[in-house]
Amino acid sequence: MSTSTLVALPAAVQPVYDTVVARNPHEPEFQQAVHEVLGSIAPVLERHPKFVEAGVLERMVEPERQIMFRVPWVDDAGRLQVNRGFRVQFSSVLGPYKGGLRFHPSVNLSIIKFLGFEQIFKNALTGQGIGGAKGGSDFDPRGRSEAEIMRFCQSFMNELYRHLGEHTDVPAGDIGVGAREIGFLFGQYRKITNRHESGMFTGKGVQWGGAEVRTEATGYGAVFFADEMLGVHGDSLAGKRVAVSGSGNVAIYAISKAHQLGATAVTASDSSGFVVDEAGIDVDLLRQVKEVDRLRISAYASQRPGARFVEGARPWEMPVDVAIPSATQNELDESDARALVANGVRVVSEGANMPSTPEAVAVFQAAGVLFGPGKAANAGGVATSALEMSQNAARQRWSFDDSEARLREIMRGVHASAFEAAERYGRPGDYVVGANSAGFERVAHAMVAQGVI
Ligand code: GLU
Repeated sequence: MSTSTLVALPAAVQPVYDTVVARNPHEPEFQQAVHEVLGSIAPVLERHPKFVEAGVLERMVEPERQIMFRVPWVDDAGRLQVNRGFRVQFSSVLGPYKGGLRFHPSVNLSIIKFLGFEQIFKNALTGQGIGGAKGGSDFDPRGRSEAEIMRFCQSFMNELYRHLGEHTDVPAGDIGVGAREIGFLFGQYRKITNRHESGMFTGKGVQWGGAEVRTEATGYGAVFFADEMLGVHGDSLAGKRVAVSGSGNVAIYAISKAHQLGATAVTASDSSGFVVDEAGIDVDLLRQVKEVDRLRISAYASQRPGARFVEGARPWEMPVDVAIPSATQNELDESDARALVANGVRVVSEGANMPSTPEAVAVFQAAGVLFGPGKAANAGGVATSALEMSQNAARQRWSFDDSEARLREIMRGVHASAFEAAERYGRPGDYVVGANSAGFERVAHAMVAQGVI
């Protein structure tokens, strides 16, 4: 993406964007995320002059606090390694800072800030009392032993603990951070603080304070969101052919729920390429390959009769009714979008954060595709984190079925809020405008009420 190819912003918000670009010059992902929100909310500002008077926008694009720190650790060969750690605490107006940690070599301040900014509106849309944050490190877990991962997590927490707490900042997982890493991070927090503070982290193992359905929630939620969008048109996911990208937590459970709802998910991918399985991706095998054996995706095709591996490509060339991009930001560009549209795609539900470039979103919307942006479609993960916080606070454990029913209800609510706001602002069916406006309104009202902070 280059900012020059972005559509012009309404005059009322352009100066805010210009300031963001000037202040954050080498942060293209952060600029992209801000541009998308600003492109949606000018009519909201027009309707609520007090948002403008209170400088809500100017304050919202500046994180409340940004933490960057050194993470030194010693690898198995006895060599010293130094990584960079981040936590961007963007907004606490609706609740404690909330958002995941990402461990991936591509992580930098721009990526953490775009994710943290998105998280504010996503979390607001869930209707729960959670602020927005994101963090992580440029640490690459691939190829590292479990002992190395533990030492890294402990060193990371040696600094981060002082900024966390169940009423302050509650991290969770994201790319490269799953139950194993959360266990090491939580353990070190407990050791340093001498507090077993269950609600200071979500995504914990279900044996020690984690919530049922949290692991599945992001993928399940993205599928529920697709089903809701189709439901408006009297249709459903049953019988649909689905392309999913990625092979992590989000992709695995998106595929699983798509199958449960009567659809067939025919692809999964990683950075080396994608696999096609016309019979429907075998979720147990995919989990075995990616989460237990931690192999590349080609191993799926070699162990599954009838499946094939396509090297160096993305699944968007496949003819499908529904696409659920669940890998990473900007993984689906304009030419991918054109290919999907030419092949008849009707629904795109973003399981990842900002996987479609702005140009791709424009292609989908011009073609009348039902497009569910990540901050609405993948909100089920963080919403279930809020359920985990509730259970921890009340020292309760809810059943899987009860938790899944709540997730389904939350996704219905997220869809309804985005759908209703799009209608109210004269853009029926535009879930980008709807999600941004509904999330922004909630945050802005709270900011006005709580004064200039
Ligand atoms: N990283 C996930 C997200 O993007 C989950 C955050 C959380 O549960 O706090 O929403």
